[in-house]
Amino acid sequence: MLIYKLPQDLQQQSQIWRQQQETIAFVPTMGNLHAGHLSLVEKAFTLASRVVVSIFVNPLQFGAGEDFNEYPRTFEADQAQLQQLKVSAIFYPTPETMYPQGMAYHTTVQVPEDLTNILCGQSRPGHFTGVATVVAKLLQIVQPHYAIFGEKDYQQLLVIRQMVTDLLMPVDIVSMPIYREEDGLAMSSRNRYLTQKQRQSAPYLAKTLQDIKEKILSGQQDFSTVINEAKQQLIAADFTPDYVEIRHAQDLKLPAYTDRPLVILIAAWLGKTRLIDNLIVE
Ligand code: AMP
Repeated sequence: MLIYKLPQDLQQQSQIWRQQQETIAFVPTMGNLHAGHLSLVEKAFTLASRVVVSIFVNPLQFGAGEDFNEYPRTFEADQAQLQQLKVSAIFYPTPETMYPQGMAYHTTVQVPEDLTNILCGQSRPGHFTGVATVVAKLLQIVQPHYAIFGEKDYQQLLVIRQMVTDLLMPVDIVSMPIYREEDGLAMSSRNRYLTQKQRQSAPYLAKTLQDIKEKILSGQQDFSTVINEAKQQLIAADFTPDYVEIRHAQDLKLPAYTDRPLVILIAAWLGKTRLIDNLIVE
């Protein structure tokens, strides 16, 4: 397994693979790998002969006061897991090599605000510009035929899809379902911030999504009442809801109650940890 720290070196290797008619699948991550990430890597192997995983905690997508410094960095354990899966290469750059002149002097990619300033983009201004910019750059470096993203970050997936479509980037975006713990909690590197007590409450987020889905499927038409009830339930379970929303699954626009498919999205704080989760209603 090759480990690249410099963009130019991996870019050269990717060109060689492409000349040799190899296909490349790419899984971008921030590391601290869990089974959700590994499900993306396994999918990558079904698509291509070479699999590249990036591990980069991207400062450009973190706001002031967010957890950039605390974010778990476990490169050696990550490397061991990827080695076992026979990943071809890891891209493990530093912020200095990704943003040599500093973040303020770097070109950015702005996906339209109707998709990026709502939901997580409203609570985290600039977040999706940071995500789109780093993913655009990573795609230029790795030059993959496929890039695999998790539906866990549902809004992010739609932002990336729009960027790739609008900018005619020659890559297939493939998505994978949310990988969950046995009790329903969506796997996330941020779950390790939870205290034991908070960890016990955390699956309530996924349960709330299920409750909302059942209400929609049983014919409840007044979405705002459904949403308000869910927020009250979350507050009673010690969460501080950021948003609870029912949206069109394709574009996150507000739906009519007969529209399908829908996506229910929740972001909520449990203590100092912000958790997100979502559920599709076909
Ligand atoms: P992150 O390291 O959190 O930036 O995530 C890297 C990729 O893994 C993103 O495409 C995420 O959507 C995906 N991912 C994270 N958690 C999960 C999960 N529980 N199930 C499926 N994909 C996930």
